[in-house]
Amino acid sequence: MKIKQLLLFSFITGLVFVWILYQMDVIDFIISLIILIVILMIHYFIYNKFIILNNEFENLNKIIENLLSGKHDTGIIHSNLEDNKVLNANMNRLAKRMEKMTFKNEEDEKTIQLLTHHINSPIIYIDIDGRIRYLNEPFLKRFNSNVVTNDLYEKIRIRKLYGYIDDAFVRETNLKETLLIQDHYYQANAITIKNTANKFVGILFIFNDVTDIKNYEKLQREFLADASHELKTPLSAIKGASEILIDGVSDDQTRMEFLNMIKSENDRMERIVQDILLISRLESDNLKLKFSLIHMKELVEDVSDILNFRLKNKNQNLMIEIEEDLYINGDYERLKHALINLVSNAITYTDGEKSIFIIGSSFGDKVKLMIKDEGIGISAVELPHIFERFYRVDKARSRETGGTGLGLSIVKSTLDIHNAQIEVESTEGEGTTFTLTFKAFNNKRDTF
Ligand code: ADP
Repeated sequence: MKIKQLLLFSFITGLVFVWILYQMDVIDFIISLIILIVILMIHYFIYNKFIILNNEFENLNKIIENLLSGKHDTGIIHSNLEDNKVLNANMNRLAKRMEKMTFKNEEDEKTIQLLTHHINSPIIYIDIDGRIRYLNEPFLKRFNSNVVTNDLYEKIRIRKLYGYIDDAFVRETNLKETLLIQDHYYQANAITIKNTANKFVGILFIFNDVTDIKNYEKLQREFLADASHELKTPLSAIKGASEILIDGVSDDQTRMEFLNMIKSENDRMERIVQDILLISRLESDNLKLKFSLIHMKELVEDVSDILNFRLKNKNQNLMIEIEEDLYINGDYERLKHALINLVSNAITYTDGEKSIFIIGSSFGDKVKLMIKDEGIGISAVELPHIFERFYRVDKARSRETGGTGLGLSIVKSTLDIHNAQIEVESTEGEGTTFTLTFKAFNNKRDTF
């Protein structure tokens, strides 16, 4: 029964009681009247107290609701009731504490925003309730997200990303993982954020794109596997030949053949190792380049002199047409090595008494150098792969001529460090043309 009904019931009971006494006697009536007045006074007192209490509770309830919904500027609570003083004081302290805590959270969020604003990696900060409090442009761009601040992270549609975020929230701990999202590898870092009271308030997620590193690692693994494979062939040959020699070979000619075989396979291994070392030096920063002014004609003539013997051996002509005043800036020895590789290939992959052309000309601020042969050519299927390490169209032919399959990779790396480009055109059975494009070096304008 509610307090109002109880009061009404007791009041009516009082009236009935007074009426009964009134029926009895006058003196009794006076006494009854006094009793009634006392009852009325008690009623008034109790009712008044009830109303005040009710208002106080309603007031407190409102304040709690405000605190819970994040409105902490509820101010100081005043009470008329002595009994409620402790409760009020506690409520005031709670409001102040929450105000401080939230201020700290907002401060944290601002700090995170400030620190991460210029970072190119995708970043998202999600609070303890799963609401996105901050996310940067790279996050939206990279993950094609339609989410905005204050969305629940459930709206993140990329399954792997959502799974990772969810996992971090379940574990409430710093979490590092590599995620493959839309063909990119990300090193994902979940950093739990705590407030001053050491209470977990959210997680900051940073996604570093490590695709290049991963691809590089893959290339390195492949290179190592290819290199081991390439070295295995001459090693097996040397092992076989030496075992035969140890067992004993009666005639001198056969013994000489095996010894020559060991020597040539050994030379081959040496060339492979040298080429591997050169590639790794070209691709690392360890290679000290000696840049200088290079007169193109002089460089090409130097290359021609070195290969003269091989050209004569194959009855081939080297036709040089280089404009007189072509200059570039580069490392003479490295470029000479690259040109030797290209002309050497032209000699190797040309049968019969044909000509090889080296044509140099200027195009605006560029210097173009063409190495053209009339050799066996390269099919359109093979052409895109010839700059790959250890790639050989005709393995047997390359092997016969001492090729390592690394020549064109070295040429490409050398041109890369000179900011020069290489292009190739070829028709099977007709010939191949490599075109090198350098930035022209103009004495009056350019400086080293
Ligand atoms: P290799 O040591 O085998 O010559 P390269 O890296 O120099 O290795 O060349 C890769 C492959 O490209 C060669 O094995 C050859 O099949 C092809 N190639 C390169 N240059 C020519 C060319 N001028 N004509 C035809 N094929 C060529």
